[in-house]
Amino acid sequence: MRVGLYDDPIFREHDAGPGHPERPERLDAFRRGLREAGLEAGLTPLSVRPATPDELLRVHTPRHVAQIEATEGQNRRLDPDTAASPRSHAAALRAAGAVVDAVDRVLGGELDRALCAVRPPGHHATADRAMGFCLFNNVAVGAAHALARGLERVAVVDFDVHHGNGTQDIFWRDPRVLYVSSHQYPYYPGTGAVDEVGEGEGRGFTVNLPMPAGLGDTDYARAYREVVEPIARAFDPQLVLVSAGFDAHAKDPLAGMAVTREGFALLADVCVGLADGAAKGRVVAVFEGGYDLDGIAESAGALAGRLLETPARKGVDPATPHRHLPALLEAWREAQKPFWRG
Ligand SMILES: [Zn+2]
Repeated sequence: MRVGLYDDPIFREHDAGPGHPERPERLDAFRRGLREAGLEAGLTPLSVRPATPDELLRVHTPRHVAQIEATEGQNRRLDPDTAASPRSHAAALRAAGAVVDAVDRVLGGELDRALCAVRPPGHHATADRAMGFCLFNNVAVGAAHALARGLERVAVVDFDVHHGNGTQDIFWRDPRVLYVSSHQYPYYPGTGAVDEVGEGEGRGFTVNLPMPAGLGDTDYARAYREVVEPIARAFDPQLVLVSAGFDAHAKDPLAGMAVTREGFALLADVCVGLADGAAKGRVVAVFEGGYDLDGIAESAGALAGRLLETPARKGVDPATPHRHLPALLEAWREAQKPFWRG
């Protein structure tokens, strides 16, 4: 299995401000996780190039691209949680460019899969706005690039503990992109209710699994196996992109989920499994959130380990589910029933 690894020193030069949880050490933790899992040698390191204006403009407005460009060399606050430092623009261009390059190499057959260890993260950035630590929407730029290359069905699976409002917004009316998100709810950024399903031609192609705090490996496994898998299989994506945030980890200081290393391995298995059909195994995973350094290291190791092999389908952990899980499964399925018949 040829799995590309995108990382670059520039990603550590984006400084979100003193004491900010989205800090450069997160990437060192990511790399430590790969090393400790003994996986670094098995990954193919690739150099990172900046996204071009045309690539960004597929998902962002000219005003937004210009606004981020104008931060070059400056310290600027973009929203209450989001700041740019002198090198942030350069880092953000390369974070998006890494995903575009990964999509190119995976679709070109040079790689089977790719892992983009990038900062700043992307899934909160909307077409017109930086927010939630995100400047450009890296995964959306990658999905739009795959569409521009002629793909008709791209799945974006987002297991970051926050709802990827930016990705949802960008593809809200687009039936070519199936956006699936599991997230703590209600919680930042406030979107991601179960009845947010897309609009117009895109109706049914946004799938939200809002979750109360406290869900663990078993709950996530069942949510993804019993709700996400059947829908994604019916959609039959030609490429699977993953917004891989590790802030649902039990140790994460920002959120309240209880996912462990095993849970992230299982989520990675599901994502790889969704690429079984038309996607021919093609998966590009993109780092999003995750704020506990050990949690990131464990989760990154688990994810990379599953990307490097074709995992055998493992049974769901028989641990006791969260008391609300049966009702949640029912509500998620009910919301999707009009669009995806089992
Ligand atoms: Zn997050």
